[in-house]
Amino acid sequence: MLANQNAGFWHAAAQCLAGSIAVALITYVCFQLQVNLATAVCLYLVVVVLLSLQGNFFSSAVVSLIVGGCLLYYLSPPIFSFWISDPSEVVVIIVFLAISAIITHFVSRVRHSTDELREQADLLNLTHDSIFVRDTHNLITYWNRGAAELYGWTPGEVIGKVTTHQLLQTVFPAPVDEIEAEVLRNGRWEGELRHTKADGTEVVVASRWSLQRDERQRPVAVLELNNDITAHKQAEDALRRQANLLEQAHDAIVVWEFPSTIIFWNRSAEQLYGFSREEAIGRPSHELLRTEHPLPTVVFEALLEREGEWAGELTHTARDGRKILVESRHVMVREADGRRLVLETNRDITERKQTQESLQQAQANLARVNRVMLVGEMTASVAHEVNQPIAAAVTNAGACLRWLAAQPPDMEKARQALDRIVRDGSRAAEVIRRVRNLVKKVPPQTDFFDINEAILEVIALTQGELQRHPVELRTDLSSDVPLVPADRVQLQQVILNLIRNALDAMSEVGDRPHELALSSGRSDPNDVFVEVRDSGPGLDPANLNRLFDSFYSTKPDGMGMGLSISRSIVEAHGGRLWAMPNEPQGAVFRFTLPVEGGGNS
Ligand code: ADP
Repeated sequence: MLANQNAGFWHAAAQCLAGSIAVALITYVCFQLQVNLATAVCLYLVVVVLLSLQGNFFSSAVVSLIVGGCLLYYLSPPIFSFWISDPSEVVVIIVFLAISAIITHFVSRVRHSTDELREQADLLNLTHDSIFVRDTHNLITYWNRGAAELYGWTPGEVIGKVTTHQLLQTVFPAPVDEIEAEVLRNGRWEGELRHTKADGTEVVVASRWSLQRDERQRPVAVLELNNDITAHKQAEDALRRQANLLEQAHDAIVVWEFPSTIIFWNRSAEQLYGFSREEAIGRPSHELLRTEHPLPTVVFEALLEREGEWAGELTHTARDGRKILVESRHVMVREADGRRLVLETNRDITERKQTQESLQQAQANLARVNRVMLVGEMTASVAHEVNQPIAAAVTNAGACLRWLAAQPPDMEKARQALDRIVRDGSRAAEVIRRVRNLVKKVPPQTDFFDINEAILEVIALTQGELQRHPVELRTDLSSDVPLVPADRVQLQQVILNLIRNALDAMSEVGDRPHELALSSGRSDPNDVFVEVRDSGPGLDPANLNRLFDSFYSTKPDGMGMGLSISRSIVEAHGGRLWAMPNEPQGAVFRFTLPVEGGGNS
């Protein structure tokens, strides 16, 4: 502040000095040339005007007074005296002083307002926004630094030379006449414009126009302030496009801010759950949909935080109370500002699940029918199995009676006979138990069991059958077979189906021995296998692909369901069942089961 004052003082002093030198020179020249007073006054006025333009009021006033003195002393008779003889010269000097005062005043006023304008222009140059002014003919009259930087033309290249819309090839959001009319009506307009820069690239600007009027309210200029929003725009476009895509999605899409507040709710979500966007946004998602989650909330949240995503099945409750089962996928996105957003995509699988369940039920029923039929086909064999121990028990009971009736009764022999009755009774009961297990309606259950034991039980059931057919049975059951996690009854059903088919196939062959071989073992560290090998006619290569199709049968009374059911049972346990030719003749059916894990039907 003090420095400014000092500078002002020295500036005024320098101007006073320069003015005084000019005045001295003019006075000397006029004195030597004896010019008249009016001519001298005109010359002095030039000095005063120049001083006023350069300096301040003070220096002009001082110089004017010096000029007055010079006029009196050197140029008006009597010379070298401040006395004036001719009164008209007094008037000339007074007029000079008055004119110089007026000039100084007006020039300093004009300078002042020019300085103000310059300061304002400088201020406008400070802003990063692009600002320009155009007159009523659209001719550019002001162009700030921001405009030069944004568009690439300097003020000198555009001011007074071109119209804005021509220069910038403006693309308007509405007809330009309507926009101009709005500016005239309201004095302002706001909107987005597309401009072309000096290098030919396009720029999108948020534009604000203000109309300037003169004191008679006539429009004189428009000030246009433009902000480059190209990148912002593009980003918004991308966002809008993404939001549109999410809108179009068939799945219900919910975006919520961690831990739960809904911020986006697409049309499919409205349709699926019945809550409108307005009802959903801002609400905690789990509360709104009464989410039944397989994991406790804290565990789920920690998992989502750690992994960044989660997928699974959820049960939601719609607005009308309907339970909806959805296949859900959550992806967590971290925003630059630290917010954690979760994109939740839900697909309604209620119907699919119900259909799947009914299908599973139908398959289970079918499998049971197949079991019952298998057992039915073995009735003779089963009857034989039961009959034999009962007949033996009856014989032993007769013997026992005889040992008791003897004199003296032979208690030891009677006890031995009773022991045999108990053993035969248990054998018959065991056969009945196995048959009952096969036909009993029980839900599938997975237990670890010994596959060899299961095979032997099935062989025991088919014993009578094997004897009737005269079949040579060989078993090769590996002792290195771990317990398998599976449904015992279902796997016995598979083995029974394979044995049944082998017996049927061999019954067609009359010219060679009927050989049936059952084996088990480990095919690799993770699998056990069971194999049924026969010496029947073998597999027809033309129909190899159809063997496991439902209802494919070459038997006159066959249903064609045995292999198809067997394969679905094995696959439901995570295993595989396939067929291959036996050497030198016959067929081999082999299935594998995983030692650990595996599903269940
Ligand atoms: P079905 O026994 O009712 O015919 P399956 O699905 O058990 O139904 O068998 C389908 C068909 O596969 C049989 O009809 C038969 O043609 C063929 N097949 C099954 N096992 C054997 C086998 N061990 N040897 C030859 N062909 C077989």
